Amino acid sequence: MTLPNFAYIRPKSLADAVAQIRSPKARIHAGGTDLLGCLRDGAFAAEKMVSIAHLDQLKGIDRTPDGGARIGALTPIAELAASGLVRQSYPALARGAAEVASPQLRNQGTLGGNLCQKPRCWYYRSEFACLRKGGDKCYAYDGENQYHCILGGSICFITHPSDTAPALVAYDAVIRVAGPNGFRDVPAGKFHILPEEDVEKETVLQPDEIATEVILPPPRPGMRSSYRKVRARGSWDFALAGVALALKFRGEVVEEARVVLSGAAPIPWRSREVEESIIGKRLDGETAAKAAEAAVKNAQPLKKNGYKVTLFQGMIEEELLKINKA
Ligand SMILES: Cc1cc2nc3c(=O)[nH]c(=O)nc-3n(C[C@H](O)[C@H](O)[C@H](O)COP(=O)(O)OP(=O)(O)OC[C@H]3O[C@@H](n4cnc5c(N)ncnc54)[C@H](O)[C@@H]3O)c2cc1C
Ligand code: SF4
Repeated sequence: MTLPNFAYIRPKSLADAVAQIRSPKARIHAGGTDLLGCLRDGAFAAEKMVSIAHLDQLKGIDRTPDGGARIGALTPIAELAASGLVRQSYPALARGAAEVASPQLRNQGTLGGNLCQKPRCWYYRSEFACLRKGGDKCYAYDGENQYHCILGGSICFITHPSDTAPALVAYDAVIRVAGPNGFRDVPAGKFHILPEEDVEKETVLQPDEIATEVILPPPRPGMRSSYRKVRARGSWDFALAGVALALKFRGEVVEEARVVLSGAAPIPWRSREVEESIIGKRLDGETAAKAAEAAVKNAQPLKKNGYKVTLFQGMIEEELLKINKA
């Protein structure tokens, strides 16, 4: 398909941008790497593109006074992956960013766009009028569902495509949002929503809201974190399975844990089952194996993605044993 015509606006300020996106069929344009593909593929239409790409206050990575970090939503993903601050204090986020797509896309794509990108379901990105596009049927349920979810599906079976969101949930980050009434803070773990809540939306953002920055709490003593991603191809590809770990150790014992899966569910999926299996324990082979088993005990694979159950199990067990030795 070719790109449809649309108006292109460059607002002078954040407040102006918020005012501009209030009109129907307006869309925010950050790096454009996902948005233009969606328009070209007919996933949705836009009459007005509101570019925020030049709003400098939404860029950059800084240390906050409490020792945490603030990352502007317009920060390129490549900058996140390369940042000394992020690599040192939030290695799972740096790894997630480094795992996104290709160098070109990491240079052009932004953190905010990565969190707000649309699903990669091939029915959604083609002429099928599925539930998520306002239709009355999920074509993936009985169709080509090898890359779809095994947890949290219910009526739509997408997986959330972001490689940065799982780490943000694991670190308990906050996403700051600007709207017509000022700012509000949304915990990263509540930013994305399940299809049963609203099948046509992926996030809690209202149509006239813009994600402006991400705020990370200071790293804590005894904290170890990582992100592991498995993909079908050696080159760029979305996660078939992924896991972000943020574990706080006291000596050899796991004191606190946040474990978040990618490629598993329509949202970055917090695995309370894994967390409960490892808290208060040493991460020996038996604990890691039991935790990995717990991760998939509620999985509901579709006809063609049963392989993901064993993939997640093996990957989680390996990653727990690896972080124990780190
Ligand atoms: C070939 C290809 C491979 C990819 N592989 C991966 C991968 O392996 N892992 C991965 O995580 N991602 C992957 N991506 C997705 C890529 O990371 C996103 O396209 C990119 O992060 C989007 O950033 P952007 O700034 O270009 O967003 P845009 O395309 O400008 O916007 C994306 C969406 O978010 C909305 N939006 C953008 N910024 C904001 C904001 N601040 N507030 C509210 N809404 C906003 C837009 O309106 C739009 O709907 C891939 C993309 C492509 C094209
Ligand atoms: S999985 Fe969701 S996006 Fe894909 S066809 Fe089904 S309803 Fe549409």
